[in-house]
Amino acid sequence: MIFLWLFIMSVVTIVIVVILLMRYLKDENKRAQEESSKLKKQMTSNIAHELRTPVTSIRGYIETLIACPDMPQEKKQVFLERAYSQTLRLSELISDMALISKMEEKSSKFGKDDVDLYDVANEVFSEFDEKITEKKVTVENLISAGTVLPANRTLVYTILRNLVENSLKYAGEGVTLHLECYSTIEKYYYLTYYDTGSGVPEEHLDRIFERFYRVSEGRTRDAGGSGLGLSIVKNAVAFHGGSINAINREWGGLQFFFTLRRKEE
Ligand code: ADP
Repeated sequence: MIFLWLFIMSVVTIVIVVILLMRYLKDENKRAQEESSKLKKQMTSNIAHELRTPVTSIRGYIETLIACPDMPQEKKQVFLERAYSQTLRLSELISDMALISKMEEKSSKFGKDDVDLYDVANEVFSEFDEKITEKKVTVENLISAGTVLPANRTLVYTILRNLVENSLKYAGEGVTLHLECYSTIEKYYYLTYYDTGSGVPEEHLDRIFERFYRVSEGRTRDAGGSGLGLSIVKNAVAFHGGSINAINREWGGLQFFFTLRRKEE
């Protein structure tokens, strides 16, 4: 029963993914008209490359299941679970791509409200509670209550979530995650976020905000990374009138400096 359910779930997910993919490609098409043909070609080939891996493996598992109906139950279960986890990866990839294109094309669709950064940061850190404990990570959240800005809460959450998730993926064990608003001069909140991990090789620093850019293909792909996280962060910061850059800390770890626009006085 569970196998059948998992199988049906996989098929339904694939259908949803294909529909989303078709919608994404349609939107992508429109936007590409404004871009240079070189960029368009590169993007299309990146998407195809990213989608090929999970789609090929799902297809492989399902073909094997169809071809070997007498396969032992445990093995069937393993295959179905693997296929299912690839469909999850595919869905994540599609929603990341959809979010980027929505931010670029229809930014008016993201409404703004008064958002308390302190609440959002606490929520993000508690989402990763288990991982933080498992990896013996120390959290230093120095945002004060009442750090309010006119913002889209979902996007602000996405910014912090991606930064924290990356640290948990790449910075290693026993590190510190530090979030702070260090200045509020004039129109902006000046924020910094860093971890005390190993950072990024200097020659890659300029490129980590590019779409689909991974520092180390194999390692980051294994960690589940699509190379879209920081590109989403950059777009979301820009949506709030700010900018972001990254440096390697002298004492180790990756540090981000970013601004978010405050309320007009
Ligand atoms: P991904 O989805 O692969 O994580 P991102 O756009 O979020 O992609 O990040 C781009 C690359 O930057 C990652 O593949 C990773 O190699 C590197 N990176 C991001 N954050 C960190 C970090 N905190 N420490 C070390 N490397 C990082």
